[in-house]
Amino acid sequence: MISSDLLQALFDISPAGIAIADQQGRYLQVNDSYCCLFGYSRAELIGNTFRLILTEQDQALEAMILNLALTQDRSAPTEWQVRHKSGRTLFVHSAFKTFFYSDGSAKILTVLSDVSALVCSLNILQDQEAQLIKTNESLEQMVSRRTIELERANDELARLATQDFLTATLNRRAFECEASKIIYASDRYHRPASFMFLDIDHFKAINDQYGHAAGDVVLQKLALNIRALLRESDLLARWGGEEFVVCLPDTVLADAIVVGDKILEACRQMKLSHQQFSIALTVSGGVVQRTLNESLHEVLQKADVLLYEAKRTGRNRLLSEMPASTAANEAALLNFHI
Ligand code: GH3
Ligand code: MG
Ligand code: MG
Repeated sequence: MISSDLLQALFDISPAGIAIADQQGRYLQVNDSYCCLFGYSRAELIGNTFRLILTEQDQALEAMILNLALTQDRSAPTEWQVRHKSGRTLFVHSAFKTFFYSDGSAKILTVLSDVSALVCSLNILQDQEAQLIKTNESLEQMVSRRTIELERANDELARLATQDFLTATLNRRAFECEASKIIYASDRYHRPASFMFLDIDHFKAINDQYGHAAGDVVLQKLALNIRALLRESDLLARWGGEEFVVCLPDTVLADAIVVGDKILEACRQMKLSHQQFSIALTVSGGVVQRTLNESLHEVLQKADVLLYEAKRTGRNRLLSEMPASTAANEAALLNFHI
């Protein structure tokens, strides 16, 4: 048991506010901390009820709160919103214990400590957390928008790096890269591949007569027409000014010639006009079937020589050359036809 002088000292020096009230809720005793907590002097509190410290909303509940204290003998510590003399709201951690006496009277001992600063900090933290969540959400949205933009820019960059700007066919570098893969598969699995150079006849005259812009349109339309006659797996590239190169994987020479003839015929039939003039177009070509183990450079060289020969012998024609007759080439010839 703690002696009464120690209990009195505890009451006097406790940093927590301690009050003893009667069963009507009237203050009988309050310590200095309690007075300090609510801004009332001891004289202002003694004889008054705890209504003084209730917020406006809680004042209607005064009887209920008192009844609660008188029907339970103690409470677990709870957080409570109360009112300072100045009207300012305080947050307190509170607990009470009620003592019942044989004459039917009761005394309610209440201990309160001010947690306003903590609650305030907590509110600030919660506000900051909500703010952070919002900021995070908008950052995530921004990042995903930027990612989409970046992916689009990358796709566009990849397209620009592999396509000819005028005709949207492959550029030379992309053709060499893709053709190398086809050549690798051709050697690895003994599959044929044919290559063809195509060059517009007297294109300079078209430019001179109708202008460079009309020449550009001719190049674009020609590229579209050639592409339409090829398989998805065939490669078409603009090799230089008005010269195109075609790679036909899994295609023997006879079939490549069929494709080349179709292209030349389609060019002859192309309906091209500039203002009131109709533009006639012919194309020359050289086509070869690649001999196994031949490099891209070597096979293109052969096709180029044939193209040159086609030009020299009158243009508007496709010249071809049989591949060297090796056993592997023969096997490839046997297995593949359009
Ligand atoms: P050949 O039958 O011997 O092939 O004669 P050609 O006139 O077609 O060939 P040449 O090499 O003498 O001229 C090619 C012309 O193609 C000259 C050049 O101005 C033109 N040219 C090259 N690139 C472009 C282009 O991007 N657009 C246009 N409009 N013309 C181009
Ligand atoms: Mg030409
Ligand atoms: Mg040329």
